[in-house]
Amino acid sequence: MTSSATHSLAFSAGLRLAKYSLGVGDRFAHQARAQLRACLMAAQRGVEIVPVWNKSNREHLIVGSRPGSVRAAAEKAVRELGWTGPFHVDADHINLDTVDGFLQSSDFYTLDVAYAIGRPPQPSKIDAFIDGHPELLRPMELQGRGFSRQLSPQGLAEIATKYLFATQEAGRIYRHIESALGPGAFITEVSMDETDTPQSPAELLVILAALSDEGVPLQTIAPKFTGRFNKGVDYVGDVSQFEVEFRSDLAVIAHAIDAYGLPAQLKLSIHSGSDKFSIYPAIRRALRDTGAGVHVKTAGTTWLEELVGLAEAGGDGLALAKEIYAEAHAHRDELCAPYAAVIDIGAEKLPSPLQVNGWSSRQYADALRHDPKCPEYNSDFRQLLHVGYKVAAKLGQRYLDMLVACEDSISRNVIANLYQRHITPIFLAGDASAQAR
Ligand SMILES: [Zn+2]
Repeated sequence: MTSSATHSLAFSAGLRLAKYSLGVGDRFAHQARAQLRACLMAAQRGVEIVPVWNKSNREHLIVGSRPGSVRAAAEKAVRELGWTGPFHVDADHINLDTVDGFLQSSDFYTLDVAYAIGRPPQPSKIDAFIDGHPELLRPMELQGRGFSRQLSPQGLAEIATKYLFATQEAGRIYRHIESALGPGAFITEVSMDETDTPQSPAELLVILAALSDEGVPLQTIAPKFTGRFNKGVDYVGDVSQFEVEFRSDLAVIAHAIDAYGLPAQLKLSIHSGSDKFSIYPAIRRALRDTGAGVHVKTAGTTWLEELVGLAEAGGDGLALAKEIYAEAHAHRDELCAPYAAVIDIGAEKLPSPLQVNGWSSRQYADALRHDPKCPEYNSDFRQLLHVGYKVAAKLGQRYLDMLVACEDSISRNVIANLYQRHITPIFLAGDASAQAR
C-alpha cells in the first residue's frame, strides 16, 4: 500500500500526455505542416488530438537523418500554423543502445523491450514478485468491464518468467533517460508489440504490476494485439476477437491505475502500422463506451502519400514515382529484410517496372492509395513502396526538391489520408459507426 501511494505521487507529476494523441511519421521531414493541419481540422470539430512525431532509430539510419531534425520540422509547423496545443517528439522503439542520440530532442520515449521477452530473470526475482503480489492470484472480476480471470500459481509463475526480465529492462532504460533529463520531463511508453505472440489481458495486468514495481511511470503501453498489423495495409485477423481483447485491455489498464498507483492518464498505444481500417470502428466504440483515451501510432505511411502526390502531379513527379518503384522492385529482398515481421508481399503479385512505366497518374495513384473499394488498389505494390523509402533517401536532394515542386498535390493527399482515413473513424465518428455495428 505504502509503495503504491508513494508511486502515485511521483507518477502524477510532470509532463502529461493528453487523452487522445496521434503518432505520425514523417520520414523526409517535409509533411509536418500537412499532418498538423489534419489535427487542426479535428480541433475545429471540438476534439483535441495531440500530434506526436515519431521516428525510430531504424528510420533515421535508413534515411540518414538525425533525431534533432524531427523536432525542428515539428516546431516549424507549429509556428507556421499557430498550433497552441501540446505536441511531442517520440524517440520511437529505443533501447539502451540507441537512446542517447535522442536525449537532446525528444520528450516522449518508447522503451522497446520486446526483444527481452522470454529471457529468464533471476529465479529469486520471480519468487519475490509472486510473494509481493498475492492479489494477482485472487479471482478477479472487473465488473461491467468485460474482464474476469483467475490465475493459478503456476500460470502466474509462467507469465512472470516470460515478462519479468523485459519489465526490468524497461526500468533500466527509464532510469537512464531519467538520469539525463530528470523525472517528469518526458513521457514514457513501454512497447512489446514487435514480437510474434500477442500478450493476453491477464499478461498485460502482470506486466503493469511489474512495471510499477520498477518505478516506470508509463503513460502508454503498446502490447502486441491479436492479429497481424502489417505496415500500411489493413488488419488481418478476427475483428470481433480483437474487440473483446481490446476492451479487456482497457479494463485491465483502468484497474492497474488504481491497484498499482500508475499515472491516471495511462492508456493503450496502438502501433497500428497505419491503415487498420477494419478495426477502427471497434476501437471507436470501445473508447465511446468507456471514456478511455488512446494513442494511435501510425507508421511512416505519409511517405506513401508523397508518392501518390508525386504521381498525381504528373510530368516529372510521376516519372520520379515510377523510377522509385523500379529501383525498389530491383532491390526488393534487401528492402524487405528489416521489415520481415511486419509485411506480407507476394512477389508474383507485384507489377513489373515495365508495366508501371506505362501507367498514367491515375493508375499509379489508384494502385498505391489505400482505398479497399478501388479494384486497382494493389496491397503488394503498396507494401513494397512502403519499405522502399531507402530508394528515395538515396536520391537525396533530387527527391526533396520534387517534394517542394509538387507540394500542393502532396499535402492534399497527406491531409486527406490522416483526417479522413484515420482521425475521423477513430476519434470523431459518431452515429455513423454506431449504425455499422
Ligand atoms: Zn511498434
